[in-house]
Amino acid sequence: MPAIAYELPELPYDYDALEPHIDAETLRIHHDQHHRRYANDLNEVLADYPGLANHSIEALLWNLDRVPEEIYPLARFYGGGCANHQLFWKVMAPALAAADAPTGALADAIDEAFGGLDAFVEAFTDAALSVFGSGWAFLTTDEEGTLRIEATANNDNPLTDGRGALFVLDCWEHAYYLSYRHRRDEYVEAWWNVLDWATADDRYDRIPESIERFERERH
Ligand code: MN
Repeated sequence: MPAIAYELPELPYDYDALEPHIDAETLRIHHDQHHRRYANDLNEVLADYPGLANHSIEALLWNLDRVPEEIYPLARFYGGGCANHQLFWKVMAPALAAADAPTGALADAIDEAFGGLDAFVEAFTDAALSVFGSGWAFLTTDEEGTLRIEATANNDNPLTDGRGALFVLDCWEHAYYLSYRHRRDEYVEAWWNVLDWATADDRYDRIPESIERFERERH
């Protein structure tokens, strides 16, 4: 029996919970088809590598340079697909429940790095709109708490470069095409309503300990 490396997480809300900003059919297909496919494909790739299967998805990406060459491209693509979607579901909440601004240390860091929340939102939106083809937009921090906006191609995750994500926005067409067609700008504008800043606050406070944990999980 191959080790089961990765289990598809359940959505933390109902399919229609993010409407009207993200429609139920999009969320159902996105989670139940796209994310599940990545999970299945990743497990298939890792099936012959039980040493890799015993680590968290974050640790896999953190240690990607140690993955055997013959499976590196697939581990990177499917592993990133799993980790990115898993985080994407976590940082969203129904609009009425989602915190609409950061507080505490993260709020201060955003003021310092970007000159205020409005300026940050504008810069992040620009990054999300500038992703060519398929990719993701992240707010990340390094171990010192320095913030960055990062756009990645395909399913790449900044953990591979040693930085942790506070939140992520899926910029693949499958994330918005049913409702918004080609209009990614309208999707991004609507998405801010369902981003739960409270999850980013929490992750910002815990990033140093998370990075320590991934270090310990080196294989
Ligand atoms: Mn997606």
